[in-house]
Amino acid sequence: MAAVSGLASARRVVVKIGSALVVGPDGAPDSAWLSDFAADLARLRARGQQVLVVSSGAVALGRRRLGLNRKALTLPEKQAAAAAGQSALMHAWEAALEPHGLPVAQVLLTRDDTEIRRRWLNARATLETLLDLGVVPVVNENDTVVTEEIRYGDNDRLAARAGQLIGADLLVLLSDVDGLYTADPRSDPSAAHVPLVTDLDAGIEAMAGGANTAAGVGTG
Ligand code: GLU
Repeated sequence: MAAVSGLASARRVVVKIGSALVVGPDGAPDSAWLSDFAADLARLRARGQQVLVVSSGAVALGRRRLGLNRKALTLPEKQAAAAAGQSALMHAWEAALEPHGLPVAQVLLTRDDTEIRRRWLNARATLETLLDLGVVPVVNENDTVVTEEIRYGDNDRLAARAGQLIGADLLVLLSDVDGLYTADPRSDPSAAHVPLVTDLDAGIEAMAGGANTAAGVGTG
């Protein structure tokens, strides 16, 4: 399959992981999933491939830590949850990757870091150094300081920008849905899986809906 050979031959890979994978239904880090993923990542590293992880989950983990259970949070509450959850998120990544001898580094970006040239160059230099040192950068948006107007929007976009920053050969977006469907497979039994999209048109764009899980888009 093209996707599989792409993964095998890519020198640099960005993998974006959605909140619904990192955070279990109980609101705590899903250490079993993280440890399986860490084993996969270690295999890529052993083949000499460099991997940058974009991980969501800060807001979801922070909600639990701060007891913010209401569905809709205010922006300052979301930012507080992100601040509290980000350290829990990194702790979970360290616990998963360090047994494989993979050091991790937290990199929090805001949109200006990839839109303003001087900051772009700084961010790129740091990420290059981390990758050359054999470190797995774990990137998230610096939610604590960004407002809706100046956000990337979501971590899919942030992951695309991170891919450009490091000149990645491959961007993989992992979520709790195993691909594109003609409708939401959780609510529509007639939804059909679309294995390959070669041309983006209005019909394809209409298939993409919003996030549907409690942890999705970090905010619930
Ligand atoms: N940065 C958010 C978080 O870590 C997630 C945003 C997203 O998944 O798009 O909670």
